[in-house]
Amino acid sequence: MSTAQCFNCDIVHQDVEMRSFDWDMRPRQKDLSRGHTGGLTTFEVDLCPHCYSQVEDQSVSGWDWWDAFDVLSSHFTYEQS
Ligand SMILES: [Zn+2]
Repeated sequence: MSTAQCFNCDIVHQDVEMRSFDWDMRPRQKDLSRGHTGGLTTFEVDLCPHCYSQVEDQSVSGWDWWDAFDVLSSHFTYEQS
């Protein structure tokens, strides 16, 4: 049995899994000039079931992983405590 850490809430749990999202990779102008073309690919991040349930219908865009995670993280909701 293996455990992983949720990238959003930092919980470590056996149900944390690698989740995949459609990623519309959009190169920046300077990347285009280097020959990168972008396109539809897959964005992967470790998330717990609770966090994943908030974003499972989302897709992301952006040029690099952090850019894409920014888009995804804007869809997380947090309960008021
Ligand atoms: Zn989580």
